[in-house]
Amino acid sequence: MQLRYNYRAYPDGGQRSALARAFGCARVVWNDCLRARKEAHAAGEAYVSSAELSRTYLTAAKQTPERAWLAEVSAVVLQQSLRDLEAAYQAFFGSVNGKRKGPKVGPPRCKSRKDARQSIRLNTNAFAVRQGGRVYLAKIGEVKVAWSRELPAAPSSVTVIKDAAGRYFLSFVVQTGPEPPPDTDQQAGEPIGIDLGLTAFAVTSSGKRIDNPRFLRRAERRLKRLQRALSRKQQGSKNRAKARAALARQHAKVADTRRDWHHQVSTQLIRDSQAVYVEDLAVRGLARTRLAKSVHDAGWSAFVHMLEYKAARYGRAFAKVDRWLPSSQTCSACGAKDGPKPLSVREWTCTACGACHDRDINAANNILAAGQADR
Ligand SMILES: [Zn+2]
Repeated sequence: MQLRYNYRAYPDGGQRSALARAFGCARVVWNDCLRARKEAHAAGEAYVSSAELSRTYLTAAKQTPERAWLAEVSAVVLQQSLRDLEAAYQAFFGSVNGKRKGPKVGPPRCKSRKDARQSIRLNTNAFAVRQGGRVYLAKIGEVKVAWSRELPAAPSSVTVIKDAAGRYFLSFVVQTGPEPPPDTDQQAGEPIGIDLGLTAFAVTSSGKRIDNPRFLRRAERRLKRLQRALSRKQQGSKNRAKARAALARQHAKVADTRRDWHHQVSTQLIRDSQAVYVEDLAVRGLARTRLAKSVHDAGWSAFVHMLEYKAARYGRAFAKVDRWLPSSQTCSACGAKDGPKPLSVREWTCTACGACHDRDINAANNILAAGQADR
């Protein structure tokens, strides 16, 4: 199984300039090759092969005055950019002909210098983790890295990312098998169902309530304030630029805080149970209608993804209950369907069997039952 391991990196001044050049070169190669394919397509010509693009826009281009500077960065960066473009095209084709699972993918798009996120990718020929803990990147140098956890195996590639807040990250791809979960000496507990909700972030069938922590809510409130502040600033003014930078920093902070917290919660849930079931958010009526644009949606899917890969990593069962399930209307004790209930109804009594239910725990129990029935 392929996993990503991300670390904050601290390139020095010279390395930052070298990275800026590399980001620029990767972007130019991507855009040149994309344009060539689009023009060929518009002219009714055949799909231009990667080999041909490589000859024209990597090798030959370096001999021209307009693109001579491509030679200043590692050739691997340019080749990877072309490979990533090819992968983006294949994903798009697969999406069009229905062979690719998951959400629809559009055609590759032009990259801009103004994009908030800049990145380059290097394979093993062009990077190495040094003894002292620095990471060597071809034609960039040995970059300082904050090793927040250990790499479990030798990585096969690394992506160097600069985010909207101007921070740098190294994202390694590592091939690993199942391993024991962290900090545990006990047997995994009973299987659980998880109901993701609005009043509580998540409720488990074992009755555990997980609320959004106060520090996260506070950071989100600050984000909203900064958004309002930005909208009040005059177009093109210095203060607007400042406000936009502050907003980007806070966005990054909220995203980091939320991700760290999701990691904590998902690790704990996976560690403590042998099987975990959640509702598939794609078929969730609630998320589809009123809350389609809600931030909850994005947060949930990132969280569910963590549960999924951690389950695979630690050898736990995991499934998304993917058929339409009226989980908050069905009595988990007798199976009777009690009819729709507005969100304000937190507790109800089953008219068929008399069981008294907490709305969320009952829903989690139904998800658990459906997950186990599917197995
Ligand atoms: Zn009942």
